[in-house]
Amino acid sequence: MRLATLRLGVRTAAVRVEGDSAVDLGMPDVGALLAMPDWRERARSTPGHRLGLAGADYAPVIPRPGKILCVGLNYRSHITEMGRALPQYPTLFAKYPEALIGAADDILLPSRSAAMDWEAELAVVIGDHVRHADEGMAAAAIAGYSVLNDVTARDWQYRSTQWLQGKTFERTAPFGPVLVTADELDPDSGLELAAELDGEIVQRASTADLLFKAVDLVCYISAILPLSPGDVIATGTPGGVGHAHEPPRYLRDGVRVTTRITGIGEMTNVARASS
Ligand code: ZN
Repeated sequence: MRLATLRLGVRTAAVRVEGDSAVDLGMPDVGALLAMPDWRERARSTPGHRLGLAGADYAPVIPRPGKILCVGLNYRSHITEMGRALPQYPTLFAKYPEALIGAADDILLPSRSAAMDWEAELAVVIGDHVRHADEGMAAAAIAGYSVLNDVTARDWQYRSTQWLQGKTFERTAPFGPVLVTADELDPDSGLELAAELDGEIVQRASTADLLFKAVDLVCYISAILPLSPGDVIATGTPGGVGHAHEPPRYLRDGVRVTTRITGIGEMTNVARASS
């Protein structure tokens, strides 16, 4: 199944996407849907009102996750091209819901940063409560997958050894357009992930190249704290970010940023200087 959160005037709605239309599932967003223990059955069989998707306004697929955990260096080819040894443990940092935007919303370039950069990533969305997961529990706890652009203020990220302050600027991180349930998609089989700036491909990689895979990350993180429905794990980005260009290349007002993963979908967001 393909699930999305749409803005419908004064409300939002969780929908099941079917081709070029969608069925309103009677819940305010996909996060609220996933909080229902029988969400799979509800999502599959709710008859609901049918909506056209032409001109649909996508909210972040989970508008207010309880947790957004992000992973640093995690693509083998990118780590080795940087001349680093493969890490034994994932690097984790956080992002807060205020950073999230929808699949076609503008990326707000903060007036206080001159180094906003793109990071196309596979997002893992949790669909059950899970703690101290083994691999089987971890796989069962994954609701599905989406796309997240972990837009980063490099000048703030590297002010200290802790990355958080560069990673959670308001209205910077596109998340969507849909969640594809785990029964229909296997990132370990190798999905193409890409980023484009005004149509020029700047990142391209296979999700099969992830060092710490979705199941590994759920096992690792759930050893620290409980994961709950609607929580999000952004799994890291491959090579091709602007900061690694010579000279560095950052987002400017009016640039169109497209991020996509084969089998999930794509988002196109225009960078806009804050006024
Ligand atoms: Zn990232």
